[in-house]
Amino acid sequence: MSHTDTHAVPDDHLMGVYNRAPLAFERGEGARLYTVEGEAYLDCLAGIATTGLGHAHPKLVAALKTQAEKLWHVSNIFRIPGQEALAKKLTDATFADVVFFTNSGTEAVECALKTARKYHWARGDGERVDVIGFEGAFHGRSYAAVFAAGNPSYVEGFGPALPGYLSLPFGDMDALKAAIGPTTAAIIVEPVQGEGGARALPEVCLTGLRALCDDHGVLLIYDEIQCGLGRTGKLFAHEWANDAAPDIMCVAKALGDGFPVGACLATAAAASGMTVGSHGSTYGGNPLAMAVGLAAFEELSNPATLANVREISGYFYQQLAGLQDRHSDVIAQVRGKGLLIGLKLIPNNREFMAAAREERLLMAGGGDNCVRLLPSLLFTVEEVREAIEKLERACERVTRKAAA
Ligand SMILES: *Cc1c(COP(=O)(O)O)cnc(C)c1O
Repeated sequence: MSHTDTHAVPDDHLMGVYNRAPLAFERGEGARLYTVEGEAYLDCLAGIATTGLGHAHPKLVAALKTQAEKLWHVSNIFRIPGQEALAKKLTDATFADVVFFTNSGTEAVECALKTARKYHWARGDGERVDVIGFEGAFHGRSYAAVFAAGNPSYVEGFGPALPGYLSLPFGDMDALKAAIGPTTAAIIVEPVQGEGGARALPEVCLTGLRALCDDHGVLLIYDEIQCGLGRTGKLFAHEWANDAAPDIMCVAKALGDGFPVGACLATAAAASGMTVGSHGSTYGGNPLAMAVGLAAFEELSNPATLANVREISGYFYQQLAGLQDRHSDVIAQVRGKGLLIGLKLIPNNREFMAAAREERLLMAGGGDNCVRLLPSLLFTVEEVREAIEKLERACERVTRKAAA
């Protein structure tokens, strides 16, 4: 390994893949995070749409503690009652008939892609292997997931392109109609793009996608890892559109409120190729994850939680429109759906996030020079007001800096 000897070892001994903010948090409560020094931050990031019920939700803490004293892990070669209970809840609430539990969103996407190809193969249609995705998408970081999303900066340097993945312009139905054909296995799409910059696919497009897939015998996969589980004010984002149910859907993030858990949901028909031995996971669906998932799903699917998202996000957009009027030199556009809010900025988004951190406000970056506001679904009117005040001062900061 002599050719690597000259490379400096980072002080933290961590692989340098993250652009980390210089902050370390010790404790969280609801929409607040506290640093080691005891400084409070307002959290409009929520672990990137993961802690959907806020930090240290008492019901989830109790569920985790109770389970922790009983059983953490058994192999999937045994029945796991928590999986059966959570699968029942997820399938009762959706189009789906069956569920495969994972530890992450990427693994849910991996399962979805394998399920789709295997479906066609099992029907004797083995030439149907192509998966169509859309520019600006994010589906996770496995080889299949980065090629399904096609973001050039995430595939660069990782060797030959995985065959069978096509990336088309977002929302371009004509390009899609031209690309779909007898070798197409599936279309994968986020009903609202998250990392791509809070871009909602128009509801008519979702309905159109469903019809197009039906016409061509293609499976429709939704990646609702970020936009699902209440974030847009419905349990799943595609429910805003008529007749737009998928065949397969990936969820994760909010499902464990920060505890690692994901799921691939499918109709019985779509999952028909996933027979004994065709897939598996050591940790997926472990008793700890299922205990937290069950408690989280109870709260996420509560009509009061979904009503809060619709109400609070309406107020948030109204306040953000005012902010944009006052700072049209900073905010170019306000977009998104529910509490998946994107601000397209004129100054650099990383610079704006740093200015917001100075005001003790946390948010996420996003493609297209956006910042994303992804607060807990239990955010209050007072917390929206506080976020707006902090955003106002962050706008003033970047404006002063630009003038200096
Ligand atoms: C976060 C995310 C993923 C990946 O999930 P991980 O848990 O990081 O593997 C996939 N798709 C979307 C839309 C996401 O937001």
